[in-house]
Order: sequence, then structure tokens, then C-alpha cells
Amino acid sequence: MISLKNNYDAIVVGGGPAGSTTAALLAEKGHDVLIVEKEKFPRYHVGESLMPFCYFPLERLGLVDTLMESANPRKYCVQFVRQDGFLSQPFYFFQHFDHPSSTTWQVWRSEFDKMIMDKARSNGAAVMEETKAKKLIKSENDQVEGVKVVSKDLGELELKAPIVVDASGRDCFAAHKENWMVRDPELKKVALWTYYKGAKRDPGLDEGATTVAYLPNKGWFWYIPLSGDMVSVGIVAERDYLFDGSTKDHAEIFQREVQNNQWIKEHLAEGDQTGEYRTTGEYSYRNKYCSIDGLVLAGDALGFLDPVFSSGVFLALKSGVMLADEIDKVIQQGQPIKSSSFENYGKRMQSSIETMRKIVYAFYDKEFSFGDLVKRGDHLRSALTDCLVGNVDDQDFKELFDAMSDLAELPEPVEHGLAHASS
Ligand SMILES: Cc1cc2nc3c(=O)[nH]c(=O)nc-3n(C[C@H](O)[C@H](O)[C@H](O)COP(=O)(O)OP(=O)(O)OC[C@H]3O[C@@H](n4cnc5c(N)ncnc54)[C@H](O)[C@@H]3O)c2cc1C
Repeated sequence: MISLKNNYDAIVVGGGPAGSTTAALLAEKGHDVLIVEKEKFPRYHVGESLMPFCYFPLERLGLVDTLMESANPRKYCVQFVRQDGFLSQPFYFFQHFDHPSSTTWQVWRSEFDKMIMDKARSNGAAVMEETKAKKLIKSENDQVEGVKVVSKDLGELELKAPIVVDASGRDCFAAHKENWMVRDPELKKVALWTYYKGAKRDPGLDEGATTVAYLPNKGWFWYIPLSGDMVSVGIVAERDYLFDGSTKDHAEIFQREVQNNQWIKEHLAEGDQTGEYRTTGEYSYRNKYCSIDGLVLAGDALGFLDPVFSSGVFLALKSGVMLADEIDKVIQQGQPIKSSSFENYGKRMQSSIETMRKIVYAFYDKEFSFGDLVKRGDHLRSALTDCLVGNVDDQDFKELFDAMSDLAELPEPVEHGLAHASS
């Protein structure tokens, strides 16, 4: 059991990729950090396909070698399959960027997330598992000063720090308390997924590919090969399409959709479904602010985008790295820590999320196809691949989005996710 302190330099709510990355890097810089995590790790989590640019945060964490030595399938590309089974030319990342980051991994999130949490611990962060954050502690002038938690072993506690990082994922601990969640009306999808053992893998370099296989009305399957001869396979679609009322049985709905894509049907025919069928509801949202005085949001607790391009873990890791650097700087400038310290962080995260959001909108536009886009020039294929690998920081994608907007309706940027004006 850890011995608790009266005051930490930072308290992180949630020990997923965003929270554990923030904590690991802050602890490495010598700060006193506490992670409070409601689960006991390793715990199950969906979201197994990494984006190539996860490499750079993982390099900062000193975890690239561990992944290189792991049994995780290597992901060299993403590929798109039509309903009739026709496979378009895969997007091979190494053709775009000759660097080790061009090969990434398909990971069991239970292991991956524990690996980062263990790194935080070995760097000196304290971790309280089975401890749920319940309430923000605020001063009279609304400065966040800590969190009230309930720990399985220790009961109710008040924990204090000049900065609280909310990395509670889609639970959005702080955003729910502050009423900040705004759903993306065009991206009201649902997901239904499960796992298969022994299902077919493509040969050679494509063995570990992420496959996006189309369903009617722009729904799609993900097909993610994992270690242990397992595959994660799921459907994302409009609620009214998937749950059309004909049956409530998730297995029946899933198997009905398998018949709607020839490639998925053939690949799953060789395997056996294992474990439960899981679902999640309407899920793209942004929270109105990234920070208030004494509090800052990271990863899915800041915003969540449809997972079609596997951007979630990348954005979580990236936000963790950026926050550790910002918090390290502001702690040295003295207290109290103001919301305005995170203006730059909010702008950079907003810009990355907006870039990915445009491509997600294009993907779901009935008139749009990536084939039509890349036929318009290699420079567009190259810019699109930059987005697919996660090379989105400080990039100008004007040409790409001008060309895309001829083929699809792109969204106006939303202003959410910036720092709240300090009191
Ligand atoms: C259907 C689906 C498919 C996806 N597929 C992919 C994919 O292929 N690739 C990809 O990159 N991303 C994918 N994602 C997104 C990805 O899972 C997330 O973006 C990623 O997990 C975000 O990391 P995080 O650290 O912000 O949050 P999480 O990983 O969710 O971690 C948050 C942690 O906070 C803890 N917590 C929550 N509330 C509290 C509390 N009150 N007190 C203490 N602890 C708390 C939770 O237990 C959890 O461990 C997918 C998401 C969905 C829904």
C-alpha cells in the first residue's frame, strides 16, 4: 500500500494512456505525482490499433524497445475493403515516411495500458488503484485544489494538489460535473464488437494490417489482428441501421452484418467467436474547455472522435506528453496554476482533433471516396497519409481539404476545447 502525502505536485484522475503518460513524464522530471484509477490493472479496454505517430510519445516514455520485443502484430498499413470484398491498394506507411515510426503495433490494451502505468510507477509516480474520483475540491474563488476520492481500501479521502489532470477517458469525470459535454450531431454512431480466435490473416506485410470493411449506409467493420491468434472485430454504424428493432440479440445482429461484407465473411469463417459481444452508444463529443484554474483535461476526457482512423490512443499519448511539459513549466513559475497556462495546449489539441474530424466527416459522406481523392494527385495521397499516420501537428492541410471539400461536405471547426478564461 502507498503512503499518502498531504500535498502532491499533480494528481492525475485515470491511469489510461493519457493519464499514465502525463504522470510518467512528470515523475521523470522529479515531480510528486499521484494517479487515482478506479479499476485494478490490467483491465479490459477497447481500441487496439495504434497510429504510427504513437512512436514519438512511446519513445519519450522509453517504451519503444519493449514494444519492438513484444509479440504484438506489426501494423504496416491500413486497408479499405468494399462490401463485395474488393480490397483497394493499402496505405503503407513506410512508402510515405522512411522511419521506424512507420511500423506500429496492434496491442491488447490491458497489457499496453499496464505497461505505461508501470513506467509511471518506476519513474516514481504513486498509483492508487480501485480508487474513484468523486468530486473536485474548489476554493471560494473556484480554483481547483484537489479531488475527493473513494478508495476500496481507505474509504473517502481528500487529496490536494495545485493541478488536477482529468484523464478519466469517456467517463469525463470533470466535464460531466461542469456540464461541458457537447456531442457531435453528425457522428451519432454506435459500435458492436467481439473477438475471434483462429480467423484468417492476410499474407506477408498485410498480416497485421488494420482493415476497414464497408457496410451499407457507410457503416463499417474494423478487423484488427492481435497476438495469440486473436482478432478484434467490430461494427460502427448508425443506431437505427444496426439496432433496427428486428432483434435485440447482439450475436444475431453481428452475424447478420457479417453476411454483408464478403471479405469479413471469408476471414471470420476460419475462426471461432470467443467471449461476449460488447456495445457502446453515441460517442463523438468535445468538451467545452480544456482547463479551468487548477484543472486540465487530457485524452478522451477532453474529446472523443469516431475511431475509424485509430486516432484515440495517439491523441491520448500526445496530450499526455504536451501536458507533462506544460505542467513542468508552470509548476516552476509558482502557484496558483491558472487556466491560461494551458492556452497553447488547448489550441494545439483542438487543431489536431479538427484535422482528424474533417477526414472522419469525409469518410462518412455518401458521395466521397478516398480513391477519387488520391486520383487527383500524389500530393493529396501524401497529405492524406500524413493524417492517417498522425503527422498533424502544425501542418498546413489547405490543399488537401480544398480538394476534399469538392467531394464531400466538411464540417466547420468548433471552438470547444480551449482554456477557460482565468478568474
Ligand atoms: C468502439 C471503439 C473503438 C476504438 N478503437 C480504437 C483504435 O483502434 N485505436 C485507437 O487508437 N483508439 C481507439 N479507440 C479510442 C481509444 O480507446 C481511446 O481514445 C483511448 O483509450 C483514450 O485513452 P485515455 O487515457 O484518454 O482514456 P482511457 O484509456 O479510457 O483511460 C481512462 C481511465 O480512467 C479511469 N477512470 C474513469 N473514471 C475515473 C474516475 N472517476 N476515477 C478514477 N479513474 C477513473 C478508467 O478506469 C480508465 O482506466 C476506440 C474507442 C471506441 C469506443
